[in-house]
Amino acid sequence: MNEAVEEVDTVDTVDTVDTVDTVEDCLFCEIVAGHVHADIVLDEPDVLAFRDITPQAPTHVLVIPKAHHRDIAALTAADPAGAATLMAAAARVAAAEELVDGFRVVLNTGSDAGQSVFHVHAHVLGGRPLAWPPG
Ligand code: 5GP
Ligand code: ZN
Repeated sequence: MNEAVEEVDTVDTVDTVDTVDTVEDCLFCEIVAGHVHADIVLDEPDVLAFRDITPQAPTHVLVIPKAHHRDIAALTAADPAGAATLMAAAARVAAAEELVDGFRVVLNTGSDAGQSVFHVHAHVLGGRPLAWPPG
């Protein structure tokens, strides 16, 4: 009996490793689920925006699709309309934050770019002059 249960668990894990396991381990999925607190500035059916816990500018908001995709490349491949929805939400956040002098939208993708949370997120940064090129 125990052996049979173990076998089923193993098969489940292998079959769903790219979906269920990743989502269960994902900080931003936990924020979407309401299990981790965030200072939410926009909550729509498909997207959520909340203030970065370590702001790098006077305004620093993270905009995410509620569905889990590891980065913008994966989101664009799986759901191009979802990528457009994410960008539109980022622009709405910038408007709501009154970033009338400009803002930057950043999508760190992969290790060279310093991505640290592997649930795609657009950083909306503004409220001060932003240097170019980035580091
Ligand atoms: P990345 O480095 O992946 O582009 O950006 C991840 C961002 O998530 C970082 O700017 C980091 O400060 C932010 N972050 C990490 N943990 C939390 C958290 O628990 N809550 C919030 N609101 N932001 C977080
Ligand atoms: Zn996630």
